[in-house]
Amino acid sequence: MTIYTSAELKRHMGHEIVVGLYCENSLDEEATIECETCYEILYSQFKFCPKCHKKMNKFGNCSDRCDEK
Ligand SMILES: [Zn+2]
Ligand SMILES: [Zn+2]
Repeated sequence: MTIYTSAELKRHMGHEIVVGLYCENSLDEEATIECETCYEILYSQFKFCPKCHKKMNKFGNCSDRCDEK
């Protein structure tokens, strides 16, 4: 899940926030901001589809094409 509004962000005030870096390979690096208190991803360079929660591609489109339905 990704944070879209400041109200959602405020729920994590005072929590343990960390920045994670994941490397699937040297070309595909992903940085995330995570709340360790809730085990929730607050920000990811990859967006997740609000409908099916799958990782979107680099163009911001859902691989299931939820946007186009
Ligand atoms: Zn939190
Ligand atoms: Zn989708």
